[in-house]
Amino acid sequence: MSAFLAGLNDAQRKAVDHHTGPLLVVAGAGSGKTRALTHRIAHLIGHHGADPAHLLAVTFTNKAAREMKERLELLLAQKLAQSQFGQPWSTLPAVEQRQLRSRIYREVIKELWIGTFHALFARLLRFDIDKFKDPEGLSWTRQFSIYDENDVQSLIKEIVTQELQLDPKRFEPKKVRWAISNAKNQGWMPEQLEADAGGQRGKLMAETYRRYRRALAANNALDFDDLLLLPVQLLRQNEQIRNYWHRRFRHVLVDEYQDTNRTQYDLIKLLVTNGREPSDYDDWDGRSVFVVGDADQSIYSFRAADFTILMGFQDDFGDGAASETTATMVKLEENYRSTATILEAANALIAHNSERIDKVLRPTRGEGELISLTRCDDEIAEAEAVVHRMRMLEAAHPDLSWGDMAVLYRTNAQSRAMEESLVRWGIPYIVVGGLRFYDRREIKDVLAYLKLLVNPADTVSLLRVLNTPKRGIGKTTIERLTDASNQLGIPLWEVVRDAEAVRSLGGRSAKGLLQFCELINGLQACAQDIAPSELVQRVMEQSGYVAELITEGTDEAEDRRRNLNELVNAALQYQEENEEGSLEDFLASAALASDADSKDTEQDRVTLMTLHASKGLEFPVVYLVGMEQGLFPSYRSLEDPSALEEERRLCYVGLTRAKERLFLSHASERRLWGGMREPAVPSVFLSELPSALIQGDIPHSGGASIRREQRLDRLTRVDREDSRQVAGGGAAGAPANAVRRRAATKTWAVGDRLRHSSFGEGQVTHLFGSGEKVSIAVKFQGMGPKILDPRLAPIEPV
Ligand code: ATP
Ligand code: MG
Repeated sequence: MSAFLAGLNDAQRKAVDHHTGPLLVVAGAGSGKTRALTHRIAHLIGHHGADPAHLLAVTFTNKAAREMKERLELLLAQKLAQSQFGQPWSTLPAVEQRQLRSRIYREVIKELWIGTFHALFARLLRFDIDKFKDPEGLSWTRQFSIYDENDVQSLIKEIVTQELQLDPKRFEPKKVRWAISNAKNQGWMPEQLEADAGGQRGKLMAETYRRYRRALAANNALDFDDLLLLPVQLLRQNEQIRNYWHRRFRHVLVDEYQDTNRTQYDLIKLLVTNGREPSDYDDWDGRSVFVVGDADQSIYSFRAADFTILMGFQDDFGDGAASETTATMVKLEENYRSTATILEAANALIAHNSERIDKVLRPTRGEGELISLTRCDDEIAEAEAVVHRMRMLEAAHPDLSWGDMAVLYRTNAQSRAMEESLVRWGIPYIVVGGLRFYDRREIKDVLAYLKLLVNPADTVSLLRVLNTPKRGIGKTTIERLTDASNQLGIPLWEVVRDAEAVRSLGGRSAKGLLQFCELINGLQACAQDIAPSELVQRVMEQSGYVAELITEGTDEAEDRRRNLNELVNAALQYQEENEEGSLEDFLASAALASDADSKDTEQDRVTLMTLHASKGLEFPVVYLVGMEQGLFPSYRSLEDPSALEEERRLCYVGLTRAKERLFLSHASERRLWGGMREPAVPSVFLSELPSALIQGDIPHSGGASIRREQRLDRLTRVDREDSRQVAGGGAAGAPANAVRRRAATKTWAVGDRLRHSSFGEGQVTHLFGSGEKVSIAVKFQGMGPKILDPRLAPIEPV
């Protein structure tokens, strides 16, 4: 048996061992989907002898990609140890273990394309963007910069206020930015945005979009949307390039497939079937596409994620497919992560959703402890209560450390109260989702120097550093230079480095400019020959940036210096992990790093993060705070049944992060959105958990103790009142229930028509599962397909 099938159950083995063709793995949380995907990569390489360069694996975060690579390195090194020395890994001396790992790193890991959609396709563009044919004739070179949200905002603001001279209060740059991003994701050009928005406003939007596109191209820069859209367009328009990447990536693997959006799906299809309809594609010889996901954990619909893509996989690649290899589906039904109690609670919660397919998820672990529910006076008392529990646990269990604990919340703002308590008690913690390291001013400054070195057309970066640190280059000078660059139609850098012109300016500005040019020219001369970390050092020193911070001498300046040293460390780490990574690659990785990616293995500290950021992770101890109506579920979702179901999925994700212990809490008063204290009602989700799994209500800060039975009764009452509101009046009342029963007992068939209490009339397009467990996909007017459970959804046949 292949070494990579060890430590897996039968269903996982089947998935890992499925050699060619399409395969879908659907399974609930903690069932070993990610583990199966990782073992599959090892198996393809170590057992089937696949060339690592022929694999493409998509993860949801950069951190997940890094962990997957580390895991693979170990798996493959262990196998190598076995075959070379016939010796189990654990008996090898550390030196030899290291040598084997570094050999695997060089020969395999380095060749693998594992990363997020954005990282992978940014990498693909580094090869081929110069062959992209833009509909408006714009062009980019392979040295392109990646602009983050701040860069983009400043570019759009400049266009709106300076170029078009519009009032930013009436024509808000943020809203325009959103409209443009939306247009891009629909694949619209400015004309289509104009038509969509309509009127004078539509005209202005379109003009801003047009100028924004041109500005990006003039800066040789792309925004995040472009990183996916350009590859789609490029692969569609250029057969040769498409052929190349199709032939190259023989095995495509995607984790968290339920949060894929249309554009990402198009990319997968272009690579896997070379642009053909999946159902017509039959050339699977030595090729595969392997996707894993859980529709119950689809939580990114606000980013256009669409879990019907996951549900449609078998149809796309299956039934009608011309080959004998139809899409296979594997279900994993055992949960290895959580105690039976936690799992039962999560299963009970998610069963309240109607837009879902029922599945089995059995515990493999013991019962464990009851789930603890705490009611607190307000958010401050809640934070104190959580920290109190943490300290008790830590003291009582020598095997538990701070790093084993996580606090999850619905909104970033909730971290503040938690942080204050943690600081008060001296407990180390990290907030995932604060200001991104790479968004700090000093980091952006130094990176802007590097971007300019790679891509001199990048005027946004040039303007950022031209007079940072101060070189006496005044505002008027910069305006004159910018005018000249606009009039001549050449990048600003070309004007700045024109010594003749600059000297004619005279005075302090001229001196500063000449100094700046000398600096950039000097750095440019060595940029490609020295390591990124070395270059970061030189920029910091030669630009006078560090010297200025030292002169400043404040605590804040000292902080900034420390951050810059951390940037050198980040570059060093990048070099270690990517021996052949260029400066462009390092910059791309910095641009795409998200706050959830920070490597945090050294430090033993509590993790604070939003529920959204926690996807795919696990912790022995989880505190889920702020379980209140209007917070979680969010206010917006209270009147929208679909949105409420997404909140419930988010809650399911939260509960299933916990391995051993789960603590829930809510406050009876909370200060929301920086306003007044508001009375808070316990979350409807609390009442959906079986009360037998929940343990007492520990009063805190003098709050009156309420007996559990009373409390649960109250919760249920709140829920009943609430769900009536949620469903918008009568819909969930008695007559609706009768209708529901009728809809539940009916045997549904494709083509049947029905009426949904909120979505209106629709038609059944697919059936999933069979017998009592059948779920139906329904197409309603004006919205994407919905998956419904006929036993729960408010529907009636028509
Ligand atoms: P999620 O839906 O949250 O992403 P998942 O399905 O990807 O979860 P994994 O993270 O792969 O699940 O696995 C959950 C935990 O169970 C991990 O700690 C993993 O190591 C462990 N695990 C997975 N499969 C097995 C197995 N066959 N035997 C023992 N442990 C397993
Ligand atoms: Mg996973």
